[in-house]
Amino acid sequence: MAKITIGAINPDAGSSKNYKTGSWRNMKPVIDYTICNKKCLLCYQYCPDSAVELTEDGPKINYDYCKGCGICAYECPKEAIEMEQEEK
Ligand code: SF4
Ligand code: SF4
Repeated sequence: MAKITIGAINPDAGSSKNYKTGSWRNMKPVIDYTICNKKCLLCYQYCPDSAVELTEDGPKINYDYCKGCGICAYECPKEAIEMEQEEK
């Protein structure tokens, strides 16, 4: 039986890691790093899909898994995240 890890993309077989759910998206979040404070990380905490990654340069959206729900943009206190139309 596969173990369920908490708050992360599960790497075990049959897990969400194998399904690039970003292809469902029709809007995409774009971070303006001239506005982002790079430290509150509410975007990371609120993302229901663990699609915001922490890097040395601040939060980064993993578009392979981001479904474009817009929660990160809604929760960002600096309004540093814009939801843009996805071009496909
Ligand atoms: S919530 Fe907004 S200001 Fe805070 S780290 Fe994320 S993008 Fe930057
Ligand atoms: S749009 Fe939704 S899924 Fe994508 S990074 Fe923001 S909160 Fe996560």
